[in-house]
Amino acid sequence: MNPSDFKRRGLLCVVSGPAGSGKTTLCRAFSESDAEATYAVSATTRAPRKGEADGHDYHFLTRGEFESRTTRGGFLEWAEVHKNYYGTLKSEVIDHIEAGRDVLMDIDVQGAALIRKNADPLIREALVDIFILPPSEDEIIARLRNRGTESQAELDLRLHNARKEMRHWREYDYTIISGTKQEDLATFSSILNGERCRSHRLISKTEGDVEEQGELGM
Ligand code: 5GP
Repeated sequence: MNPSDFKRRGLLCVVSGPAGSGKTTLCRAFSESDAEATYAVSATTRAPRKGEADGHDYHFLTRGEFESRTTRGGFLEWAEVHKNYYGTLKSEVIDHIEAGRDVLMDIDVQGAALIRKNADPLIREALVDIFILPPSEDEIIARLRNRGTESQAELDLRLHNARKEMRHWREYDYTIISGTKQEDLATFSSILNGERCRSHRLISKTEGDVEEQGELGM
């Protein structure tokens, strides 16, 4: 058997964590440095922040556009977060997984719970979920303040939601206790590389030959 005798379906890597956990930066950094991974750009009704580009950071939609896409079944999951709608379009996920590319999704705990309930075997088999846990509440406050992108009212709402989100870490396959960006990326890469090697994810193109060898007593 040769390495070229194997192929695999892509992973669906769901990453959650409170605001300020660094999950978006982590997903972006990994997908930019790894040829087999891609970042699923979400759709949202929230207004773009300074420097954010449509189609790169988010697909920015009006409430009407978002609702019409939900009605047409365009979303793999969607949820209301911080008073706005956020959702993952099926078009950002399905074809990639089928083609053997790993999809990284940065979504909230409600979205992650919906993905876990998805009945499609393609999604169920591809799923790996990871929670990014900031080391302390003080650290979240410091990271949010440093970001400087939210008003005081938005900061308060994100901190309130962060406390609620952090209670969900046990529902995830893996929890990364956040350290430096480099440490988090190294741990994240180890998890994904391990998951890529799991036997049940591999498809042998010569499976028949192996069974035949087995029958011959090898
Ligand atoms: P932000 O507005 O700070 O970019 O994101 C706010 C929250 O929405 C974050 O917790 C982020 O993970 C979550 N989020 C982003 N995209 C999606 C999505 O497609 N679905 C869900 N359920 N949550 C999302």
